[in-house]
Amino acid sequence: MSAEAIRVTRVRRVYTVAAGALIALDDVDLTVPAGTFVSVIGPSGCGKSTLLRVIAGLEDPDSGEVSVGGVSPAEAARNKMLGLVPQTPALLPWLSVLKNVSLPAKVNRSAGRRRRKESGTDGPDMVELLRKAGLHDVMHKLPSQISGGMQQRAAIVRAFGLHPDVLLMDEPFSALDEFTRESLQEQLLDLWDELKATVLFVTHSVTEAVRLSDKIVVMAPRPGRITDVLDIDLPRPRGQAILKTAEFHHYEDLVRDRLRGAFQGAAA
Ligand code: ADP
Ligand code: MG
Repeated sequence: MSAEAIRVTRVRRVYTVAAGALIALDDVDLTVPAGTFVSVIGPSGCGKSTLLRVIAGLEDPDSGEVSVGGVSPAEAARNKMLGLVPQTPALLPWLSVLKNVSLPAKVNRSAGRRRRKESGTDGPDMVELLRKAGLHDVMHKLPSQISGGMQQRAAIVRAFGLHPDVLLMDEPFSALDEFTRESLQEQLLDLWDELKATVLFVTHSVTEAVRLSDKIVVMAPRPGRITDVLDIDLPRPRGQAILKTAEFHHYEDLVRDRLRGAFQGAAA
């Protein structure tokens, strides 16, 4: 893994729509250092999901370059360096929670993952991850038998279970209530800390972005572009208590100010 987990250079992505050309990403530059947690925030339609899809190799930029761990997104995906957590958990309804989270790891076992533990099977590993995510008691249940928050937690465990170098998360908590969200943030930070992945996380929530991130990328629409990159210099671990500190509020205000600029751009 190179020092830069993700490098996006002058990436442009244009969609052809009825009204003409829609510039979803206009000359976007972004570097994400390995092992950091970076959030992307911005008004709806500013290109956040497009940026994630381009980094995931799900679509190609019209111009510019993307590398993940020093290779192309396609190669990174082939090497199982990349994980993607979508907005809805997408668990298989006929499999238990444990089977759902273990399945991708089983499928990939033969791929000879670099960071996979030498000893033991994948089973105990996933059970341990489920325990950390507070899902131990429900691991033999079907997705329909557990809450939406638990399903999303299971989807996160499944993604981390592959030990990806880079995890891309597109508003994974947006459908959840405030309390579930806060506890999932904490669990996500614990997993991230333990597994040393690089995370690129899309969110609408300023509080969530400040709590989770080393860096926050602010985007604005029409054309979709990065308008600010803010360093969040708060100590870790960031438990509940940090949400009430003056430094935390300072960063929330700072991000809101920059976002206001992005929204004004959106209204223009
Ligand atoms: P965000 O995730 O920030 O809400 P998106 O990346 O989904 O924004 O979309 C950015 C812009 O590109 C939006 O205006 C959206 O309507 C447009 N867009 C996204 N995907 C497509 C597509 N496949 N075809 C046409 N337009 C698209
Ligand atoms: Mg989106």
